[in-house]
Amino acid sequence: MYDLVIIGSGPAGMAAAIYAARAELSFVVLEKGVSGGQVLNTSDVDNYPGLPEISGFDLAEKFEAHAKHCGAEIRMAEVTDLEKIAGGFRIGLDSEDPVETKTIIIATGAQPRKLGCPGEDEFAGMGVSYCATCDGAFFRNREVVVVGGGNTAVEDAIFLARGCKKVTIVHRRDAFRASKTLVTALKKTPNIEIAYDCVVSEIRGEDAVTGVALTNVRTGEYKVVPADGVFIAVGTNPVNLGWQDSIPCDASGYFLAGEDCATQVPGIYAAGDVRTKDLRQIVTAAADGANAVYHVEQYLAELAAEQ
Ligand code: NAP
Repeated sequence: MYDLVIIGSGPAGMAAAIYAARAELSFVVLEKGVSGGQVLNTSDVDNYPGLPEISGFDLAEKFEAHAKHCGAEIRMAEVTDLEKIAGGFRIGLDSEDPVETKTIIIATGAQPRKLGCPGEDEFAGMGVSYCATCDGAFFRNREVVVVGGGNTAVEDAIFLARGCKKVTIVHRRDAFRASKTLVTALKKTPNIEIAYDCVVSEIRGEDAVTGVALTNVRTGEYKVVPADGVFIAVGTNPVNLGWQDSIPCDASGYFLAGEDCATQVPGIYAAGDVRTKDLRQIVTAAADGANAVYHVEQYLAELAAEQ
């Protein structure tokens, strides 16, 4: 039985792996896809201390390399279920035998939220994208729309404007949620147009996207913005593995846990974007990984003392 299983290999999972290795715990990291998490979808990261202007891809690679350098084993497997057993937990995996562990750190992060408008599913992969850094290059010298008003949408618009002819950013309110620095950069970019107070009524096209129908929520005005691509960045939903019935979550599905990352199930910790918190950033996710391991160590010491 492992001391610890870490689920997810984004900043929280990789920081947890580094701290777990240094604490000489027996542990494994489970990752169902590519290591890195949402950082992989970020063009430029400019707020991680000590690493200015690094790309999300490069930062994710550094996290993984650092964890492996410390001795972390990252195993490609998808978690299917969770069972309480004597002294710990059994985690079912899709491709191999279950793993048994005394503690778990869930660091599964979050995934893009959908808009839910007509055309979104129909044109997914044919002009509709949730990842500007992955798909932006397909729209070089073309016109695109970005939807959202948070850091992701504003960063995406600035990133896309470097290669696209024109970017229209559509936000449902008249003020952005994104940081002031980003909004200033957005407003200074000549080929970005801002459509405030607008919602997407429909994504239009034939074989692929040709335009986005917008409704102004204040005036009711309806217009169609020609576009070959639509980048949707309207926030995220937690990847709680469907475990919200066994591990208490808030109304949005984030695991209830404080700075100690302890969920309401003893032995299970939630680190990074998947837990309730005020500020979801790479640096706060990494901090969670460290905090979670610190509390895992205390929990393991208590377990050992009881035996
Ligand atoms: P977010 O901060 O939750 O912003 C989501 C945006 O989408 C909001 O502007 C919201 O509008 C809008 N929205 C939500 N549902 C919508 C709908 N159905 N239709 C139209 N608009 C909708 O999400 P995020 O930008 O993905 O960022 C997620 C977290 O990662 C945040 O904590 C963010 O700070 C962090 N992040 C940080 C950085 C960075 O520091 N460089 C970069 C990326 C992300 P309202 O404003 O009206 O609610």
